[in-house]
Amino acid sequence: MLKIENLQATIENKTILKGLNLEVKAGEVHAIMGPNGAGKSTLANIIAGKEEYEVTNGSIELNGEDISELAPEERAHNGVFLSFQYPVEIPGVSVTNFIKTAINETRKAKGLEDMPAKDMLKMIREKSELLEIDRKFLSRSLNEGFSGGEKKRNEIFQMAMLEPKLAILDETDSGLDIDALRIVANGVNKLKSKDNAVIVITHYQRLLDYIVPDFVHVLHDGKIVKTGDASLALELEAKGYDWIKQELV
Ligand code: ADP
Ligand code: MG
Ligand code: MG
Repeated sequence: MLKIENLQATIENKTILKGLNLEVKAGEVHAIMGPNGAGKSTLANIIAGKEEYEVTNGSIELNGEDISELAPEERAHNGVFLSFQYPVEIPGVSVTNFIKTAINETRKAKGLEDMPAKDMLKMIREKSELLEIDRKFLSRSLNEGFSGGEKKRNEIFQMAMLEPKLAILDETDSGLDIDALRIVANGVNKLKSKDNAVIVITHYQRLLDYIVPDFVHVLHDGKIVKTGDASLALELEAKGYDWIKQELV
């Protein structure tokens, strides 16, 4: 699904990623952990194609195709979803109308007609029931006055509707409360399948009490320096990151 080799990247002439390798297969959930400033959000943004970063070396392949030259929208159309892609408040545009537009734009980019209204409604009903999202929530204005939990609910709903091949959830700075953690975790657990993959970026081990990852990676100083199973997250919780840094010297 995703294959990253020797990825090096800079922002404002500062090298952030220093030769990062990562392979994610369909059906897998990967957690990326690591100290603040390690480059986790940078990695997420670069996979999604945010333009402020400069990739100076390495490759990013999605299903065998090099996506490193594609614009963010093209990557989205190829099935890459990054949480908080749409954090803007849009007064007067409901959660539902926003997602309808996003879906039809993706279809248009692929040369398809708009999704018939009846199918769209059915999909909205199914996904909102699966995720236990209230009808009233769907008619609210996008992000306007949303609490942390509601923002997460909106994100997970977008993810459910867009059915990405690769979902990247960057949970770093949002001060997730336990409610928001559960919303994210439930969403991921319900939406994961053998055909998609999820990368969860977090420095909270707590989140991984609810989402059990197949692999846990530690990103430190621009590289993945350790990979393990879910037990690695517990070890990090107990021991911090210093022992990993010491192993590196
Ligand atoms: P993490 O998500 O692991 O906490 P980030 O990817 O956000 O780390 O940041 C990695 C490093 O890149 C940090 O040193 C940060 O200061 C720097 N950085 C990130 N974004 C920018 C930016 N827009 N301009 C300058 N430096 C940045
Ligand atoms: Mg940070
Ligand atoms: Mg971050």
